[in-house]
Amino acid sequence: MAGSKYAYVRHFELPDPLLPATFIVCRLDGHSFHRFSDEHAFAKPNDERALKLMDRAAQSLMTEYKDIVLGFGESDEFSFLLRKTTNLYNRRHAKILTTLTSFFTSCYVFHWPQYFPDTPLRYPPSFDGRIVLYPNEREVRDYFSWRQADTHINNLYNTVFWALVQQGAQTTTEAHATLRGTLSKAKHEILFSRFRINYNEIFPRFRKGSVIVWEQIPDAPHDIGNSQDMVSTQDPSGDNAVENSEPSNDKDATSSSQPKQKQKLQVKPRTTIEIMHCDIIGDEFWQTRPYLLS
Ligand code: ATP
Ligand code: ATP
Ligand code: MG
Ligand code: MG
Ligand code: MG
Ligand code: MG
Repeated sequence: MAGSKYAYVRHFELPDPLLPATFIVCRLDGHSFHRFSDEHAFAKPNDERALKLMDRAAQSLMTEYKDIVLGFGESDEFSFLLRKTTNLYNRRHAKILTTLTSFFTSCYVFHWPQYFPDTPLRYPPSFDGRIVLYPNEREVRDYFSWRQADTHINNLYNTVFWALVQQGAQTTTEAHATLRGTLSKAKHEILFSRFRINYNEIFPRFRKGSVIVWEQIPDAPHDIGNSQDMVSTQDPSGDNAVENSEPSNDKDATSSSQPKQKQKLQVKPRTTIEIMHCDIIGDEFWQTRPYLLS
């Protein structure tokens, strides 16, 4: 099409590429979830259904966009790390940010009834999103440490705050006053001495947030004979519900054309998506998963 006399307006759209060879971190955060959580009667301080729904939306996003290698979630937010070398949508800033935010949001709404069967949505929730580029592994690690430290600080505060309100009969104003200026040690102390709550025994999901990664599955012994780096896409145990293999369109390439081949072969290692509630501030998480930062 030659285009109409109006088509010149297209030139007002400017390219918005993200710098090549830098880590892309995309953080989504629920818009006005203070209100949203009130209106949908979230349990305080932590509604487990709501956290699991966030995890589910994040898992769906990471299944759809395989260049996201790591997700970290707490409260109404999720951060996603894309491979440094990703060429997703030619690294167009707005295209990446809007499609990820929109897909996550629709997954949240799509899966809502499964996690809140007795609570119909009263209005459509939305999420804001931002992209930050980080040049080095150090900054990426510090970014995720920053989010997990935030999870800890907020959760400790909220746990004591709601214990004072729900079990200690304080008003919210009184509870804020009780906690003003207290250090972490004093908060642990209040929790234990007044409410017999040992903070370290609270669900790791609440204390550590949710960590979602594409884990590489080590080669099963019977696969190794074929080729050093070729593995089966079939799950020998058959019990891993969320297993996925890369590339996802591999099925088309091998299924009907080679009917006698029992195992589908591929060059990349098998991967499976895992949701964990572990420490990501220390070295171990990263040292055992060098592919996250490669
Ligand atoms: P903004 O639009 O600026 O993000 P906000 O109201 O969403 O405003 P946040 O700082 O993002 O503010 O805080 C989200 C709030 O949502 C929390 O403070 C908490 O009150 C509530 N919330 C989110 N997730 C949960 C959950 N799983 N359980 C209980 N409350 C939650
Ligand atoms: P991109 O992600 O780049 O936008 P796209 O597949 O959405 O890719 P568009 O140029 O946006 O490409 O075109 C949308 C396509 O969706 C149309 O070409 C048409 O095939 C289909 N489509 C959208 N709305 C309708 C509709 N109401 N009825 C029939 N087809 C539709
Ligand atoms: Mg915000
Ligand atoms: Mg929010
Ligand atoms: Mg938030
Ligand atoms: Mg379109």
